[in-house]
Amino acid sequence: MKFYLLSALYVLIIALAILFPIERLETIIIVSGVSIVFIAIIVWASVNINSQFYVKTICRSNKKNMIAITFDDGPDTKNTMQILDILDDYNAKATFFVIGEKAEENSGLVKLIHDSGHQVANHSYSHSYFFPLKRSKTIREEINSTQSIIQKITGEKSFYFRPPFGVTNPLIAKALKGLNIKTIGWSIRSFDTVQKDAEKTITRIKKRIKGGDIILLHDTGGNIIPMLKKLLEIISHNSLIAVRVDELLKK
Ligand SMILES: [Zn+2]
Repeated sequence: MKFYLLSALYVLIIALAILFPIERLETIIIVSGVSIVFIAIIVWASVNINSQFYVKTICRSNKKNMIAITFDDGPDTKNTMQILDILDDYNAKATFFVIGEKAEENSGLVKLIHDSGHQVANHSYSHSYFFPLKRSKTIREEINSTQSIIQKITGEKSFYFRPPFGVTNPLIAKALKGLNIKTIGWSIRSFDTVQKDAEKTITRIKKRIKGGDIILLHDTGGNIIPMLKKLLEIISHNSLIAVRVDELLKK
């Protein structure tokens, strides 16, 4: 809705600038300036999952004593088992936004995630770089097929989706329309896949962490194992409980 209002406003300003008899140079300056601002806003809103511009997303809750750790891009044959062991050691629960294609190939791991009491949620089927640019129908098919894969493996429906790369746009908004699914963002991004120094990632999280946060991590993060242990120490030190996203959002 916000996108369509902004687009209408943009078209109106451009039309007025062209129709009104002002200097040609002034018209060019106005049209270029307004276009740059318009493009900047729509790009910013696309890559900022918290913008609420195209899709209503949930990025945190008001629970003061809980926190949700989320793992994207798994299951991962190298790390997911170890992640589950560490979570167990700290009696922590988490949410795994799995890629449908990987879940199909590693159904045993997905079953183990579920049977260990963690939440399995939807992170698209392909996680392709072009996912945000696909047709709405294809995006919807990806979401639905991953829903089926999760249900087939775990015996339970998933009602939670996280868009690949946290990117939202009108195509994804259209694909999600009418689906009984909540879109989940995050309030703390760890940058664990790009930051090579686990200590720096931890320092970043430590500065920001508070009750109600949803933390974005990746099964595939290079330093996920040492980093996760430190994170769980911090969570416990702050008297917070690590819970699943559905638990964090319970009324
Ligand atoms: Zn991802």
